[in-house]
Amino acid sequence: MNSSFSKEFLAETKETLEKQKIRLERQIGDLTNKETGSAFPSYGEGEDESAEEVATYDANLQLLDANQSELRDVNESMVRLEKGTYGICKYCNNPIDEQRLRARATSSSCVACKKALTQEL
Ligand SMILES: [Zn+2]
Repeated sequence: MNSSFSKEFLAETKETLEKQKIRLERQIGDLTNKETGSAFPSYGEGEDESAEEVATYDANLQLLDANQSELRDVNESMVRLEKGTYGICKYCNNPIDEQRLRARATSSSCVACKKALTQEL
């Protein structure tokens, strides 16, 4: 099933997703320690610094996690754009409201399905 969104809207969405991708990749790069390849910062060897390192590490890790899952969503949305299945709810196969997609370009489920899911939890 192909989505019935306008070319303009899809082009705009593609641009939004590309910008998000660049921003996320930059953030992930910033959060990753260049030497170790992990999110662990290196302030120094002292005890105080270590405590601070751990706190920063926890915060960075959470941020990194959030950024990485967001990046995954962005990449998946870009694939769906390529395939022409962008904006189709993954649960009920109905088109997702354009307003919803404008607010969050990576939405992959419609309002009704999202509601149903949230209520189940
Ligand atoms: Zn749905």
